[in-house]
Amino acid sequence: MQQDIDRILISSRRIADRVGELAAELAREYAPPGREQSCDLTIVAILSGSLIFLADLIRRLPMRMRIALVTVSSYPGASTESRGARLFEQITADVAGRDVLIVDDILDTGGTLRAVRAELARRQPRSIRTCVLLRKPAKAPPDVPADFVGFDIDNYFVVGYGLDYDGLYRNLPDIAVLRPELYTSGPGGGRA
Ligand code: 5GP
Ligand code: MG
Repeated sequence: MQQDIDRILISSRRIADRVGELAAELAREYAPPGREQSCDLTIVAILSGSLIFLADLIRRLPMRMRIALVTVSSYPGASTESRGARLFEQITADVAGRDVLIVDDILDTGGTLRAVRAELARRQPRSIRTCVLLRKPAKAPPDVPADFVGFDIDNYFVVGYGLDYDGLYRNLPDIAVLRPELYTSGPGGGRA
């Protein structure tokens, strides 16, 4: 697997440091000192890409929370261009009157967050905010803001730390760019 990597963009050490900072920001926002117990937060995590980020982030958050998972796909198979977000399962969490934090791996065209946000907004939560590990500012549209962002990156197709290419590389500890010849060309292929 290591020989497929062209270069490491963000090392596991830098990710861990930044996840700690993000957790501190979130704790200040949702559970200021003395109010940890009254926190009524539901984290809605978008699978599969956010699974490692989610696992690391929630273990650094001190407050009570509920966690709901939703599966969305916008990059079927060996493609590096979004084909539009598709929710695979309806969100079942009861979020009426609660604070909701949507957690995703990366904000690219915004289609995924837009779809999940719209679905949740119909259930009248108290607030909806979004937290993404990565954002590609070149593409991120203004109508889908990310409230908490780990890193802004250039317009590379990245893998590792939960992010895949054709189902592979999620278990890489770092965030990396693959060797260009590994991205298949053709419709939807090639480097995004
Ligand atoms: P959007 O809907 O914002 O275009 O794309 C968001 C989703 O596409 C992310 O949740 C992620 O699953 C996938 N995605 C976007 N950019 C990348 C990338 O560079 N690498 C990988 N592996 N997935 C990406
Ligand atoms: Mg995703």
